[in-house]
Amino acid sequence: MKKIITLLLLAPLFGLSQASQSSNQDAAFIKKLSDEILTNGKAYDLLYELTKKVGGRIAGSPAMYKAEAWGEKILQQLGAPNVSKQACQVPRWVRGSGDFASITSIDGAKQTRALDVLALGNSLGDGKKVEATLLAVQNFEELEKRKDEVKGKIVYFNNSFDATIVKTFEAYGKAGIYRRSGPSQAAKYGAVGCIIRSLTSSTANDPHTGGMSYNDSFPKIPAQAVGPRDADYLWSLAKKSSTVKVSMATHGHFLPDTTGHNIIAEIKGSVFPDEIITVGGHLDSWDVNEGAHDDGAGVVHTIEVMRAMLAVGYQPKRTIRFVLFANEENGLRGGSAYAAAAKDKKEKHIFALESDEGGFTPRGFSFTASPEKVAAAKCWLPLLKPYGTDSMDDIGGGSDISPLNRQLQVPLCGFMPDPQRYFDLHHARSDVFENVNKRELLLGAVNIAGIIYLVDTYGF
Ligand SMILES: [Zn+2]
Repeated sequence: MKKIITLLLLAPLFGLSQASQSSNQDAAFIKKLSDEILTNGKAYDLLYELTKKVGGRIAGSPAMYKAEAWGEKILQQLGAPNVSKQACQVPRWVRGSGDFASITSIDGAKQTRALDVLALGNSLGDGKKVEATLLAVQNFEELEKRKDEVKGKIVYFNNSFDATIVKTFEAYGKAGIYRRSGPSQAAKYGAVGCIIRSLTSSTANDPHTGGMSYNDSFPKIPAQAVGPRDADYLWSLAKKSSTVKVSMATHGHFLPDTTGHNIIAEIKGSVFPDEIITVGGHLDSWDVNEGAHDDGAGVVHTIEVMRAMLAVGYQPKRTIRFVLFANEENGLRGGSAYAAAAKDKKEKHIFALESDEGGFTPRGFSFTASPEKVAAAKCWLPLLKPYGTDSMDDIGGGSDISPLNRQLQVPLCGFMPDPQRYFDLHHARSDVFENVNKRELLLGAVNIAGIIYLVDTYGF
């Protein structure tokens, strides 16, 4: 039955008998890649090295350089014919030590209850304790209504994940605006500090950091994310008390920009060498964890796809680039430099895929591409279904490859693993190697290898 469906889908493109032959060859080759990855895959061992021997690797840090050297060495050791480093200037944000917040009084009665917090990435703080009355609001609309109450207070945003949204990346997208611009929205009305609910639906109390940016028109106030259970407590306390006082301190600051690198391995195409396919993930992570799912998984997926293709002796028709991007988390400088170079050199990029949604069980792919291209990709579903790909969505891609689309209209594809547990770990201390499953990680590489092979074979 499956074979018949494949035939019917491919028939309009190639004619029935040719489609049948191609489909059988494709299925056999994808199985070969899969067998190679599931039996000899190195992704899990490489993830161990990246997370445990390099560790957290925020842009500009000594660990970033260690990660770059590691990536370059591994790609060379695995036999990449051509490995290069592409320089870009990256920001160097330093958290400093001792992110701190505590409830100090409730309705005038002295209290000491520490809150588990992390300063938001790119936020600034001089380490001095700021003590003020808490103003807890659900969202920007409520802040707007209560703007006259904000002056001199610490604003708490109870921006919860919308539990009704099954696709958690959409819930993250909606709540994310509070992390990115909540602090400046609060500072606009005179707030002296800002705490947001961590962007997660996890039941653990781990706080989740992540990038924010200040609006230069307003004071750059300390900004933190609080763990979900402490967030629940703060919210309920604010509902039943007339005055809650909070003390907070952060130490974030910037050192001068420094030079980081995208690490790029390339296999030249044998038939259409000028047509470039990019597959990548980002090498940087936040400083508070090992960046195992975000985005160690994407890095080792990328390396594994290259390794497997070389191991089975695959000669691509088109040029395939395997890219370990610099500085996704707090600057996107790696992805921007990659697109700028592509534009400068007038390169012909036909497809770019990113794995940056974790190393969980594969579910599908998402696209930023014309409806015709997405429809063509959907014809490949039967070939990838045996390995877990069930859907191809028309909204998605990846941060690092997004400048390629914005500047050169390159079609984008994002690898989509199961998204239900990703935001339990994302940007939290718990994003560590131990929370990645070897089998799930390898299956991700199988599906990515499969779609890259199909794009290489048929174009896009
Ligand atoms: Zn990421």
